[in-house]
Order: sequence, then C-alpha cells, then structure tokens
Amino acid sequence: MAVQTLKDLLDAGVEGRAVLVRSDLNVPLDGPNITDPGRIIASAPTLKALAEAGAKVIVTAHLGRPKGEPDPQFSLAPVAAKLADVLGRNVQLAGDVVGQDALARSEGLTDGDVLLLENIRFDPRETSKDEAERTKLAKALVELVGDDGAFVSDGFGVVHRAQASVYDVAKLLPHYAGNLVAAEVDVLEKLTDDAQRPYAVVLGGSKVSDKLAVIEALAPRVDTLVIGGGMFYTFLAAQGVSVGNSLCEESMIDTCKDLLDRYADVLHIPHDVVIADSFSADAEAKTVAVLDIPDGWMGLDIGPESVERFGAILRGAKTVFWNGPMGVFEFEKFAAGTKGVAEAIVEATGKGAFSVVGGGDSAAAVRQLGLPEDGFSHISTGGGASLEYLEGKQLPGIAVLED
Ligand code: ADP
Ligand code: MG
Repeated sequence: MAVQTLKDLLDAGVEGRAVLVRSDLNVPLDGPNITDPGRIIASAPTLKALAEAGAKVIVTAHLGRPKGEPDPQFSLAPVAAKLADVLGRNVQLAGDVVGQDALARSEGLTDGDVLLLENIRFDPRETSKDEAERTKLAKALVELVGDDGAFVSDGFGVVHRAQASVYDVAKLLPHYAGNLVAAEVDVLEKLTDDAQRPYAVVLGGSKVSDKLAVIEALAPRVDTLVIGGGMFYTFLAAQGVSVGNSLCEESMIDTCKDLLDRYADVLHIPHDVVIADSFSADAEAKTVAVLDIPDGWMGLDIGPESVERFGAILRGAKTVFWNGPMGVFEFEKFAAGTKGVAEAIVEATGKGAFSVVGGGDSAAAVRQLGLPEDGFSHISTGGGASLEYLEGKQLPGIAVLED
C-alpha cells in the first residue's frame, strides 16, 4: 500500500502529541450487552501501540444508526467499558462528539491517556452529502487534537464511506493507515493480485442485490463460485423454480438468470435445501430437493448433499474467500450448512490454503458455531468494504490516505 502507516507515525514520534484514531467499534448489542466484541478486539492493537508510545489518544467511532442526534440507545458507553477491559487501561468517554465536554477532556489528556468521543453519528454532519458540512465537523475533530495532531485511519469497516471522520478529516491532518486497515488491505491485495489456484469463493447471506456486483467481478477470475444463503432463492426463481416463501428479490431475477447463463461453469448452487414452515427457531424443518419447495414453506439452509459437494470443492482449494452465511445460522436447526462449509474451509486452511472470511454476520457465525478463529487465515472486520474492494471500486477512505 502506497500510504504512510502507523509505524511511520511511531517512528516520527508521538510522545505528548494528540492523535485522532477512527476505529470501527460498531459491535452488535443486545440491550446494553455486547454480543460479539470482535471489532473492539481487532481495534485494540493500534490504540495500544499509540498509548504505549505516549500519545494522547482520541478515538472516534460510530455505533448503529442513530438519526443524527444524541440517542442514549446508541451511546458508546458499553463500548468504552469493553475497550478499557481489552486495553487494560482507563478509557474516558466524552459526553458529546465534538462539544464542550469533548474539548475539555481532550485538553486535560496526558501522555498515554485514551479518550473515546461519543457516537460520531450523533452529529448529522458525519454522513452529510454536503462536503462543506462534513468539513465543518472534520475541523471540529482537528481542533481536539490541535496543530501538532495526526490522524490514524483504522476503521476498515467504514473506509468505503466518504464520511467526515473517515475521509474529510484525513485531508486536514497528517494521515496514516492503522494496523487493522493496513492488514485488511494486504489481505485483499492477496485475493486480487496473485491468488493461488484453485480459487474458490463462497457467497451467501440475505440480500442478493448486495452481492451481484461482486459475483460479476469475481466470476471471471476464480475457478469456483459457490452460492448459498437467502440470496440463492432469487437464482432458483431465475430458473423458473417455485421458491415458496423463501427470500426472493423479483427485480434481480433477470440479472441472476444472465449470470447463470454466462458463468455456468463457475457458479455452483445447492441441489437440496432445509425448509421451514415459518421463520423461527422452533419451526418445523425438513430437507427437500430444490425443485420440491412446497407453497407456504421457506428455504432457511442448504441441505447435506450441497454441503458435501461444496465441501469437496473447498477442501481442494488453495485460496478461499467466504462472505455470507449459508443459512439462518442464528437458529440451531438451520446452522448445519454454514457450519459444514466453514469446517471445509478450516480443513483447506490446515492444508495450507489462504482463506478469508468477510462480513459481520459470517464472522459472528464463525464464533457462534464454535469454529476456531485461527482456522482461517484472516477474518475481516468489514463486509461492505471488502466486497467493494473486490468489486474493483475505489475506497474513498483508502484513496485519501494515498495523497
Ligand atoms: P455478512 O454480514 O456476513 O455479509 P449478510 O449480512 O449478507 O452476511 O447476511 C447475513 C444474514 O443472512 C444472516 O443473519 C442469516 O440469518 C441470513 N440468511 C442466510 N440464509 C438465509 C435464508 N435462507 N433466508 C433468510 N435469511 C438468511
Ligand atoms: Mg450482515
């Protein structure tokens, strides 16, 4: 990557300097409880390195989708507590984003202190389409670190967004890629530049419209592209098969049909599925051939024959990219497909394959289904960002670091 990195900043010296870090701390919550702290743990090394080198560390991040105004439900308070735990240091939480409390606290920081600003999306300017508005917020962030400050971009999950704390602020301060962003980009470069063959891609998840561009970009470059999850049923409908109440995006049927025609030798789809009579954990479940989904039933997982067939492909691969669960793994009855495919990837990894898991829910599935995290070469923290990179799009939050 042709950008300055955290190491360059540390070499330049950070003792006594205030450093603004954009992290991705957008963890899933159940009330005030963090159900998966993965992103906090992944963000820690950059913050730790800065604090240990004596920087005054000011962290900005978002949580959920508040509506551009303070909303206690989306406060970063639980994240601050968990981050303190993970870092083994005190983490202050400012009562506002760039207001009086944030300013007073940043002025009071001493070397090695860590201050987390409140949810950046409490400020409507963060996601404004108007560059002038975003720049105002970026300037307020710069004020917190002062003239001698620096910016470290470490929120990989948001680098595909041209937002104030990701993009505009980087134009105003000396900027560096944090460890997480640098590592993620390295991995993605490996998946695009000189991937070892056979190269297999597994796509699943719920929304086919989110994934068509990546299929279009990857299908010509890989040996196999396996499709499962909720997105599969639009492909099935594209073949004129009745999908019952399964997820189906009517407006995407023609595109799916076209992809199936053009990449018939690369795309592999399930031949059997596990169907349910309702969308719930205790629904009645049975395995059927894909041609036999009765009216009123919905496909919630791929079937055992498909797991076996996909597994055989994956076990023989040298490069694997996986995005999107094969079924509704959150319900035990519909988790076997995701688990089986993930186990095949772990096996391939054990035999020396390079494997990458991208996507928040896929990463959560790895942990929830009890698979070893080190059974994969890399678990990405940013689903949308990795997909856009693989689609060949320029990521604004990365491009801005290159200037
Ligand atoms: P990721 O976050 O890994 O990119 P997505 O957000 O695209 O993945 O999709 C994850 C969601 O897809 C999961 O919550 C899962 O329950 C859902 N899903 C998978 N298969 C199905 C299906 N057959 N029907 C409905 N939802 C599904
Ligand atoms: Mg998701």
